[in-house]
Amino acid sequence: MVKRPHHSNGDPQPIRGELGASILGPRNPPLERENPDLLASPATDSGTIPNLEFSFAAARNRLLTGGWAREVTVRELPVATELAGVNMRLKPGGIRELHWHKEAEWAYMLAGHARITAVDEQGRTFIDDVGPGDLWNFPAATPHSIQGLQDGCEFLLVFDNASFSENETFLITDLFAHTPRDVLAKNFGVAESAFADIPIDVEHERYIFSGRVPGALAGDTVRSAADIVPHTFSHRMMAQEPILADGGWVRITDSTNFPAATTIAAVLVNAGPGAMREIHWHLTDEWQYYISGHARMAVFASGGKARTFNYQAGDVGYIPHAMAHYVENLGDEPLLYLEMFRSTRFMDVSLNQWMALTPPKLVEAHLNIDARTMAAPRKDEPIIVK
Ligand code: MN
Ligand code: MN
Repeated sequence: MVKRPHHSNGDPQPIRGELGASILGPRNPPLERENPDLLASPATDSGTIPNLEFSFAAARNRLLTGGWAREVTVRELPVATELAGVNMRLKPGGIRELHWHKEAEWAYMLAGHARITAVDEQGRTFIDDVGPGDLWNFPAATPHSIQGLQDGCEFLLVFDNASFSENETFLITDLFAHTPRDVLAKNFGVAESAFADIPIDVEHERYIFSGRVPGALAGDTVRSAADIVPHTFSHRMMAQEPILADGGWVRITDSTNFPAATTIAAVLVNAGPGAMREIHWHLTDEWQYYISGHARMAVFASGGKARTFNYQAGDVGYIPHAMAHYVENLGDEPLLYLEMFRSTRFMDVSLNQWMALTPPKLVEAHLNIDARTMAAPRKDEPIIVK
């Protein structure tokens, strides 16, 4: 159960002790119930901090014959200026059209399976089948495709530019439709008639269209492919040894263990009931995606400013760089979420570690805390505490 503020008549009320009063005007109890720390904000919250939350459930969903896609970018969440995300579903055989874009594309498979293909700038090929918990990373401008396998799939895409839009990618049909037929004929060394049936109406762009489920991976490789990409574009995140903590585990994936991911670093956090991602901050902004569970995150923004937010499955969170934050599991279920960074390496500054590695008397002079309290680190790197 999620901890909720004081209830009367079953609806949550903005009342904390002697503070606040019941709502008399229009209200939205389901949304208020999802955001107990906004409805009755903790006494430690203060000042104005921009909104740091947007749900994919509130994003426009574009429906197509092969599935759907919705995005949370800087347009939906203006504070999120470093990364953008897309949530996409492909039916069995559904194809995300051959395309490329200016941004690097990082992905986490949420459910089902897909076949992904790419060719790099040196003509080296890549093809793989990916399933739940698998990642991929296509460098900027690298042409690629995604196709749902027999069970279809749904995944999260993260782009290293907050202004990215799924509706503005470079599509193969769009390119062909906007190139004269005689130029296409000259380019490919074939007769102009070969292009008699290409889709020419932009409204007919494929984007996400239905297709047949492909056969076995081994039968889908390109015979003339001379070489394969030196650093694979896919990665089995769940095959990594997790970093275990008292309250859960994390898996960190960046260019040190997934060399293709040169611009995007990720942490998959699993915090059990009662556990908390410790108080920390980063050198870059953090873009979050909540996969399951219920969370409370508080952000400290200096100058006496602090604000608490609530998150659940399908929500995007954001923390501008240097702002201290913690993420607490509020429920009885494990809290699973992704921390994403526009960075070659994952880096964070741990409050625990800082205090433990600072002369105790210096810390004591600031906080009136027994020097030994801070001098004893819970662990070298607590990450998740309970
Ligand atoms: Mn793409
Ligand atoms: Mn963080």
